Amino acid sequence: MFEFDEKLIALSDAALRDCADEFRRIDCVTEHNQRKMLEAFIHNKVSETMFAASTGYGYGDVGRDTLDAVFAEAVGAEDAVVRHNFTCGTHTLTVALFGVLRPGDTMLCVTGTPYDTIQPVIGIGKTAAAGSLRDFGVNYAEVALDENGCPDETAIAAAVKAQQPKMVYIQRSRGYSLRPSLSVAQIGRIVQITKAQSPDTVVMVDNCYGEFVEDREPTAVGADLIAGSLIKNPGGGIARTGGYIAGRRDLVEQCCNRLTTPGLGREVGATLGNNRELFMGIFHAPHVVGEALKTAAFTAAVFSRLGFETTPVPGEVRHDIIQAIKLKTPENLIAFCQGLQTGAPVDSFVTPVPSAMPGYDSKVIMSAGAFTLGSSIELSADAPLREPFAVWFQGGLHFFASKPAVLCAAQRVMQQENNK
Ligand SMILES: *Cc1c(COP(=O)(O)O)cnc(C)c1O
Repeated sequence: MFEFDEKLIALSDAALRDCADEFRRIDCVTEHNQRKMLEAFIHNKVSETMFAASTGYGYGDVGRDTLDAVFAEAVGAEDAVVRHNFTCGTHTLTVALFGVLRPGDTMLCVTGTPYDTIQPVIGIGKTAAAGSLRDFGVNYAEVALDENGCPDETAIAAAVKAQQPKMVYIQRSRGYSLRPSLSVAQIGRIVQITKAQSPDTVVMVDNCYGEFVEDREPTAVGADLIAGSLIKNPGGGIARTGGYIAGRRDLVEQCCNRLTTPGLGREVGATLGNNRELFMGIFHAPHVVGEALKTAAFTAAVFSRLGFETTPVPGEVRHDIIQAIKLKTPENLIAFCQGLQTGAPVDSFVTPVPSAMPGYDSKVIMSAGAFTLGSSIELSADAPLREPFAVWFQGGLHFFASKPAVLCAAQRVMQQENNK
């Protein structure tokens, strides 16, 4: 059914050869993380009986408690809370922020202005929303990234020393910017800098898109708290909704008190039959992240051979699953998204078009043909129609199913360029 022209097939074969070393590196990390996950399942004695549904208050749900323990062990944390009740990544991060911060405290973001949806939570940016941290008397400050888009370690040290903030907040992934993503080692350095100036400051990491990309998580290098979405990396493409928070036990407890209520904390919360899916999701996650990384690597190689600038560049060591490609023109951007959509397992017959989106100044085009609405561990792409006409591309449950979709996108872009 897929018909690619010979030039593209030759280019694809060459691109795949370009990726050989990177694929080997990805396999090493996948094997390490998959083994760690399996060990956590065995060590915590996961059993079929744990997949049974609890109802009502959900007291004594051994599956729920074991899921927390397995995930904590897999990410090298003291404790974790993994729940379908978290509605999205933003909600999960919000529970963690409100769980830890109190009136009069300062939250210091050290990776520039955070991801769009976190801004109303803090109470900054254009879209003011009632009930923000600011409404509750929590102060906010940030340290800008340096001219290369990297954390400014000198400025961070000075700001932490001067402000003694309750929390230092780090966003690991680039989100929808073109700055590089942070490595776990870099996060470890920020932890050291912070603790040297202010030992009691809590270091929290927005770990979205970063889970299982490296052989360890920020919790392994001293981050006190990490959080993310289960419809991205750690849900393995199987979890239908949810999020996780992991880290220091006392802080995770505080987050549980915020998720439910003080006093009840993690003791309540019916799982309604979601346990099996969440166990399966986290079990598959290391492998699926590997597939997404291979898809990203291949896409970078194909589009760089087509003459486009990509971030990361082919062969660069990755710290999240996002691949950005500067497609130069709005026509190319639309061609890319429409082409990608034709190769999706779900909604392949749908044609994405640019349209206005709340919170954006320019029109946005999105391509997604996913089993789970908005899931971005599944093959997906988003792009605002503005300079430099970059597309942010991520996911792919199976490299061999994603490869044809990427080639569909490439073919459309090539046709578009030839028609000029
Ligand atoms: C996805 C993401 C979030 C959370 O977004 P949701 O759409 O609410 O899941 C937060 N931060 C970053 C960097 C993200 O990529």
